[in-house]
Order: sequence, then C-alpha cells, then structure tokens
Amino acid sequence: MPGDVKVLERPRAEGSYVRAAAKGMSITMRHLLKPKKKTQQYPDEKWELAPRTRGTHRMAVHEDGRAKCVACGLCPTVCPVNCIKLVPAEDENGERYAAIYEIDEFRCIFCGYCQEVCPVEAIHLGVHYENAEYSRERWVYDLERLVEQDHPVTALWDPSDPASQ
Ligand code: SF4
Ligand code: SF4
Repeated sequence: MPGDVKVLERPRAEGSYVRAAAKGMSITMRHLLKPKKKTQQYPDEKWELAPRTRGTHRMAVHEDGRAKCVACGLCPTVCPVNCIKLVPAEDENGERYAAIYEIDEFRCIFCGYCQEVCPVEAIHLGVHYENAEYSRERWVYDLERLVEQDHPVTALWDPSDPASQ
C-alpha cells in the first residue's frame, strides 16, 4: 500500500454517544455566540445597485413626449434572443416611427446590444430589477410602458455624452 494513503478506522461500537452529543452541542453553542449575520428586510431595505446594472428597459422621448425610436429595425435585428417586436410606420411627413414596439423582459438576457446599436439613443437598459409579475403577458413591455419607466439608465450610456464623443 502506498505510504500517502490514509486509512480511516471504522467507528467502534463502544464509542460514547454522550461524548458525541456533547461535541455536537459545543458546536451549536459556538455558532449561537458568534456575531449574527444580517438579514436584509426586503422590500423595506434594498441593495444599492451599481450604476452599470443592466435591468428593465426604458424608452427615451422627445420634448413633446414622442418616443425617440425611428423604427430603423436595428435593435430587433441585433437582439440575440429575438425578444423585440417592431412594427414600423410612416407619418404624413414621411417620418418613421414605431407603430408597435414591444420588449419581452422575461426572454431578454440584458446583453445591452439594443442600446449600443440604437442610432438615436432611444432604447436603454435601466438600473432596475423589480419587475416581478403574476402573468407571463405582463412581462411584455409595450411602447407606452417603456416610455413610462423613470428609473435611471445604466451607465453604459452616459447622459452627459449621449453620442459617446
Ligand atoms: S438587452 Fe439584449 S436581449 Fe435584451 S432586448 Fe436588448 S438586445 Fe435583446
Ligand atoms: S435601434 Fe433604436 S431607433 Fe432603431 S428600432 Fe431600435 S429603438 Fe428604434
């Protein structure tokens, strides 16, 4: 038998249960006397999120409240999980806009490609994660709901330097 192999003895039948119980209780007492770990009382207490957190999307708007999206089609094209639905339309001036724009936040993997590819800085990920819902359908955010989101945008996009110049 090689010399570095440790052979463990089987517990002997005459081992003391009292000693084993006392040893177990001493471990329990040691843990009782240790400083307590803090339990965070969510939702009254919340983690401070890092500014680069990528969470729930939001749509930027013009001063008159119109969504900035020009329905170019880049974000649904680049989205790796195909969770953006876009139906483009044109107004009387020939300006393109999104007649339907939806993001399935449940399927989204928060990669940020949609934000990075958008030529008009319209769609952004947000520093936000509290979007639990009772139904699958509620995870699909339409344009109106994306516009309503008011949480901070992720630091991937710098509001003071929107064109990253
Ligand atoms: S963050 Fe990524 S996965 Fe989510 S909608 Fe944008 S491109 Fe798609
Ligand atoms: S990339 Fe921007 S402008 Fe183009 S469809 Fe997506 S949100 Fe709209």
